[in-house]
Amino acid sequence: MHRGQIASNTVPDPVVRYLRGRDLKMLVGGKFVDASDGTTSAVVDPSTGEVVGAVPSATGADVERAVETAREAQGAWEALGVDGRGACFQRFAELLQSHREELAVIDAIVSGNPVRAMRVDIDLVLPYLRGWPQLARWLTGEVIPGSAGNLHYTSYRPYGVVGRITAFNHPVMFAATRPLPALIAGNTIVMKPAPPAAAAALVLAESFAEAFPPGVVNIVTGGAQVGDALVTHDGVKRIAFTGSVPTALTIQRRAAESGHVKHISLELGGKNAMVVFPDFEIDEAVEGAIFGMNFNVCQGQSCGSNSRVLVHRAIYDGFVSRAAQRLREYTVGVAYEDATDMGPLVSANQRDRVAGYLETGMREGATLVTGGEHPEGAPVGGYFLTPAVFADVKPTMRIAQEEIFGPVLSVLPWGDYEEMLALANGVNLGLTASVWTHDLDLAHQVAERLDAGYVWVNDSAKHYFGTPFGGTKDSGIGREESREELLSYMETKVVNVRFRDPPGVFVRMISGR
Ligand code: NAD
Repeated sequence: MHRGQIASNTVPDPVVRYLRGRDLKMLVGGKFVDASDGTTSAVVDPSTGEVVGAVPSATGADVERAVETAREAQGAWEALGVDGRGACFQRFAELLQSHREELAVIDAIVSGNPVRAMRVDIDLVLPYLRGWPQLARWLTGEVIPGSAGNLHYTSYRPYGVVGRITAFNHPVMFAATRPLPALIAGNTIVMKPAPPAAAAALVLAESFAEAFPPGVVNIVTGGAQVGDALVTHDGVKRIAFTGSVPTALTIQRRAAESGHVKHISLELGGKNAMVVFPDFEIDEAVEGAIFGMNFNVCQGQSCGSNSRVLVHRAIYDGFVSRAAQRLREYTVGVAYEDATDMGPLVSANQRDRVAGYLETGMREGATLVTGGEHPEGAPVGGYFLTPAVFADVKPTMRIAQEEIFGPVLSVLPWGDYEEMLALANGVNLGLTASVWTHDLDLAHQVAERLDAGYVWVNDSAKHYFGTPFGGTKDSGIGREESREELLSYMETKVVNVRFRDPPGVFVRMISGR
């Protein structure tokens, strides 16, 4: 049997071992609860298309209760101070490590991301658990020179309750890392993961409940209505959102309609350019493009993926054929098998959406060099598409303009330097970009002119805790994973002290005046 094949009527072993029959509940006020009306929604394994469990669908009343319990817990949480809060982070890190295999497999089952990559995803959480308390420990305010006879200084205050809404593509990593800066700043959290990621977040909830005091981390599950209840809640002034541009626009509108002024940060999509100069080795550039596409992490369903590769004409044909050859070597199959390089798309909808872009690309005149097929031997019900490469892509085509969020690499040729820059910057999104050349003078100049929030030189896709991550244009508002993000979860307060003249009562007493 092909390794991706599953005998009919048998449920795969990892699903039975880790997920089947598991009673997944939301975390509210330190307790594991069902939706107040008992409603659930199905958890689907995208590798097989089979229903493998159920998660609660929260009601408005459940969101209300979660915000209230977070509000009640906030004062005591803030009073713990950075060191007390950091101790909870450390405990959470220990639990994450001890549940690593279970969480990685569940991640793979619910998202379709290969289990090998999900183990790495979980390891990548650890620097964040160490880093945020360190950053918060050394965060200092300012003393600002006043006019004669006074003193101003700043301090930082948490917002209170933060609403955290996340995307589907890294279920455990997002649920584990995205609340952290708000928490270390002294806020409490109500988190709503994306529906496909909900089951993994609820398994992780068990570790949150063990490591943090009741009410500090609350997790409610469900779709747009649950997110909307959080966004429009009077008690949630700070909302942090990771997701798509259309949802972000709805959130901004709905927050305004709530009648309150809210601080909303937005981490959105990308149509990220990778620029390859003719002096660069083709093979290394191809490896960089494949790595940067996150084909073997989340099937290209990544905001930072370099989905537009701009290759100089002198090496264009060589690049395209090498990329296609490398991707044909990929083992595409069941996500929770160790041999798998690339799993299925997260859902039937997402697979159909990406397949639609493949058709559009061909209809608009691009050449599909490889990919876009159901892999031989993979389960028939799974949402698979083999990794695709488009050549002869014109900048006006939809596959060159819109975020596909799937395993599709569009390769565009360029010849002229200014033309290349216009091409790279000629989209509405500006999350990441990369430049590949041995000429570092040139690399810096191109990096300066690329309209993107994060630019790599001769590298791609890697994040480093402490470096601000976020986008320009419609890719969002705000920067994450850095001091800037920590500050975004606090409001600056100034204390302005007037020194009295003549000096105070004590000096008058001792001087006998
Ligand atoms: P999405 O916008 O469909 O959903 C994101 C979250 O918003 C989900 O939890 C969803 O349930 C919730 N939601 C939907 N409608 C809502 C509403 N009206 N009010 C409140 N919440 C609502 O996005 P997705 O499909 O989960 O994720 C894919 C998108 O996320 C892509 O565009 C991708 O680029 C982006 N993304 C960005 C980053 C980043 O760091 N910049 C990271 C990952 C994903």
